[in-house]
Amino acid sequence: MSEIAVRCEGLVKTFSDTGALNGLSLDVVKGEILALIGPSGCGKTTLLRLITGVAKPDAGSIEVGGRVMVSPERFVPPEFRRVGMVFQNYALFPHLSVAANIAYGLHGADKDDQVAAMLQLVGLSGYADRMPNELSGGEQQRVALARAMGPRPDVLLLDEPFSNLDSGQRVHVRNEVRAILRMSGATAIFVTHHQEEALFMGDRIAVQHQGSIQQVGNPGDVFGNPATRFVATFMGETDFLPGEVTAEGVQTEIGLLQSTHPVNVGDQVEVAVRADDVRIAPDPTSGAIVLTREYRGMVNVYRVRLPSGRFIHSLQRHTVRIAPATPVRVLMDPGHELACFINSN
Ligand code: ATP
Repeated sequence: MSEIAVRCEGLVKTFSDTGALNGLSLDVVKGEILALIGPSGCGKTTLLRLITGVAKPDAGSIEVGGRVMVSPERFVPPEFRRVGMVFQNYALFPHLSVAANIAYGLHGADKDDQVAAMLQLVGLSGYADRMPNELSGGEQQRVALARAMGPRPDVLLLDEPFSNLDSGQRVHVRNEVRAILRMSGATAIFVTHHQEEALFMGDRIAVQHQGSIQQVGNPGDVFGNPATRFVATFMGETDFLPGEVTAEGVQTEIGLLQSTHPVNVGDQVEVAVRADDVRIAPDPTSGAIVLTREYRGMVNVYRVRLPSGRFIHSLQRHTVRIAPATPVRVLMDPGHELACFINSN
């Protein structure tokens, strides 16, 4: 069985009338990168603060590296937790050199060797004497990573570490950071708002909503087989089409669709349809009409009105050009299974 590096059970944290965490439970496996994703205000930072020990939960327990850090009987202060933290603003000491920043949390006679090893790990061997203001954003983030990893924590927490980087740098730095974490075998919880970043960075993804975890799984599972309507909405551009379950599949206004979820014949359901799964083709006999085309560079997203008046989106390569007001046939790849949710209306 996989060794658990961090175990959170039943965490509750309330600020005056706001329930930031509502009985959240989560396991992080040793050596994995767990990407924690959720909308603003869902309690991601609160969870990290409880794991580091700078805040106390109202209820619940936390274990790190097999040691109980928080329980009704016990509270281990942050300095004894072996938890490393990388912040979005890097939080480097501006008056200390790169080497001094990394040496800050290190001890022992071989401190200089440890600093040199960390500099090499993050690819900044020639930068020991530079000051933070002489580094690019991406380089500063790598120093912050080296400083947090130096003391060999049981778990490294990264709170939106790439937010201050522009989109080009962001892709470059996240590749580097993932490779560094992989190489060192670190266990990490990586918080992000961006689904693409979560899918790329995470060995597993945990989707948080309103103070609890809705789904944990590998990226393909969470994206392809969302457990809840919220996860389906949050991961990907999703429309929901009503349908009725028949023996052959779910009958919807765009045809018969197959469900990944267990449903019963006769159930009224909503099928989660992703824009990238929807194809459209001009067809003068169709009652579906292209309303708008949103240009996004490599792709266009078409907003289509179905005969029922509902809307559906279709993501197409930039080479597909269909003018607004064109009647189109709406197609799904045959055999492709989609998430279905019981319609509560
Ligand atoms: P974001 O992605 O925007 O950083 P988040 O998911 O990290 O959000 P948290 O910062 O954990 O969310 O906040 C969760 C909820 O708790 C929010 O409603 C927030 O306003 C509230 N909250 C957080 N810290 C405090 C505090 N110190 N005092 C009062 N309310 C707080």
